[in-house]
Amino acid sequence: MTEQPVGILALQGDFALHAAALVRQGEAYLYVRRPGELAACRGLVIPGGESTTMTRLLDIVGLRQPILDFAAAGKPILGTCAGLIMLATRVDEDERRHGVKPLGLLDVLVRRNGYGRQVDSFVDEVAVAGRTETMQGVFIRAPRILEVGPGVEVVATWRGETVGVRRGNVTGLAFHPEAGEGGAWHL
Ligand code: GLN
Repeated sequence: MTEQPVGILALQGDFALHAAALVRQGEAYLYVRRPGELAACRGLVIPGGESTTMTRLLDIVGLRQPILDFAAAGKPILGTCAGLIMLATRVDEDERRHGVKPLGLLDVLVRRNGYGRQVDSFVDEVAVAGRTETMQGVFIRAPRILEVGPGVEVVATWRGETVGVRRGNVTGLAFHPEAGEGGAWHL
């Protein structure tokens, strides 16, 4: 049997950039817009975009519970930017009123747009745990990780600040590796 593709949640956001990044890594991918598609995948990428919109669409297409089951089955999940917000257990109180309902798979507190507005977006080198070389991180209205719960590992830092976390099979990054130069993040 050939290897199953990596799924990319393709409801909204920068899923096409993730597809290009997976192709560069020689990985097969499948856009996921319904539960049956997720079932065919060996891992899942939740892209950047708008976490408020993603929340609504996730529930409309009925993918919330299947993603939770997918995670519980130990399959790898990577969330970038809005994807990290979707994975978090806690989103800043104020922002919650805007309608983000995260999946609660990573015990972190995040603040949406925690580095400022669109004009404050930036590109900078990010240190990655276990790698000697830094990687380019693109921060676009990125969430800020304010608290990291017990058992959650820090896997990426920018200026000493946590910008990437992992717990078991679930990884969340505040930045976009897929938009940076050579920015592969393997699932
Ligand atoms: N600011 C967006 C949100 O809150 C995330 C931005 C991004 O994914 N680049 O959902």
